[in-house]
Amino acid sequence: MRCRRALALAGALALAGCTSNAPADRSAAPATASSAAPSTDASGCPLERARPDPARPVVDLDFSLDAHLVTVTGTETVVFTPDLPVDELVFRLVPNGPDATARGNQLTVDDVSGDDVRRGGYESAGAAVPGGLYVVTLADTLPAGESTEVQLEFTLRLGDGGFERLGAAEGVSWWASGAPLLAWEPGVGWARDPFVQLTGETAVSPAADTTMSVTAPAELTVLMTGDQDQPGRERSGRRTWTSHEPAARDVSVAVGAFTTAETEVDGVRVTTGVLPGSDRDAEQLAGETAAAIERLSGVLGPFPYATLTVPALPDAGGGIEYPSSILLASADQGVLVHEVAHMWFYGMVGNSQFRDPWLDESFASYAESVTGEPAERTARLLALDGDVGGSMDSFPDDPGYVSTVYGKGEAMLLTAREQVGAAVFDAAVRCYVDARAWAIATPADVGAALDDLPAALAVLQQAGALDPDDLPR
Ligand SMILES: [Zn+2]
Repeated sequence: MRCRRALALAGALALAGCTSNAPADRSAAPATASSAAPSTDASGCPLERARPDPARPVVDLDFSLDAHLVTVTGTETVVFTPDLPVDELVFRLVPNGPDATARGNQLTVDDVSGDDVRRGGYESAGAAVPGGLYVVTLADTLPAGESTEVQLEFTLRLGDGGFERLGAAEGVSWWASGAPLLAWEPGVGWARDPFVQLTGETAVSPAADTTMSVTAPAELTVLMTGDQDQPGRERSGRRTWTSHEPAARDVSVAVGAFTTAETEVDGVRVTTGVLPGSDRDAEQLAGETAAAIERLSGVLGPFPYATLTVPALPDAGGGIEYPSSILLASADQGVLVHEVAHMWFYGMVGNSQFRDPWLDESFASYAESVTGEPAERTARLLALDGDVGGSMDSFPDDPGYVSTVYGKGEAMLLTAREQVGAAVFDAAVRCYVDARAWAIATPADVGAALDDLPAALAVLQQAGALDPDDLPR
């Protein structure tokens, strides 16, 4: 789900895009999971886009940023209704991953409570102390379809900035994946995937009905995931900002002296923010973001969210996508389009970023080319070694990962489109997007959407994105 540092990493390939993760055992993931399935036409294409699962988690997040802008204390309340019986709840602590801790970030869980809770404890998963996972053991097995409520108190220490998903710099703080992240894949179970040294994401999380609040020094502006309300009144030098997103897998927050601008496109409210001293213009950024939304919705269907918030951060590096929000640290138009494309691929159509990084990164990179400059390097990229469908622990290093998942993956999808014709390929991608909206997609879902296009399936199989098991029967 994110496009981090791609420019620096992939300069040789002139890629504008980002990063994500893949499958150790794809057979474990079902082709269909639990969002509300729409009815279909004769070709198996949904008549309308799937809606979020009514039984999805309900998450309340309260963050409080201290006066020094480096410590966030928080409370997370989760109402979880599993579709399989569970004995525990597993949360992923993304800030404890290798590249985030290198900058001094750390997330600790200070307390856990709930009627069904027996205890909580950390598991390493290859992350730094105190661990990459926090596991809440339940007193009894929770049957499928029954709910439990768990509350976590946590403390997030922000490191020294740089282009990371969380950090603090002069007068600004930001945190994304900054709270314990419910690591549930409907139909599959808990994701305990190891953290890796690569810069891409390794998480999977269900779309949750998410309400959040951020309390911060009153003179600063908060830009975050969700449809934001007007800030509350100043009390003791602080103000509270709130928002709601009906289906968010994760959230991002940026707090600083932002100058903001707003525009509306296709009923979507776009809010951008630039910091003092930035050479960017908030209005111009809003216009560029709106243009990206328009171009992408022309190919992929309606934008998934009611709002999109784009805070421009100080460090140059790329962009990182979050549901209805983008942490942007690049003036490159390709990066912006790539991150906006992630609202469909990762935000709405979810994936295991450890097991199947190509499902969000190859598609987001592809969307850049389909809506922008025609790619001139397709044949060369498609000839690269490596399986597009590799998992995050299958790539030797960042350049190998980026060239295979972004570069070759993009070339693969462009080639498949060229072979079968843009109109039918775009229609098939729309089918896939609409069928798997708000769920966790798998490679088999892509295979199913391309069922009638054997030449496209052959390209994806040849590039190592689809295994024989992923092909329609
Ligand atoms: Zn990306």
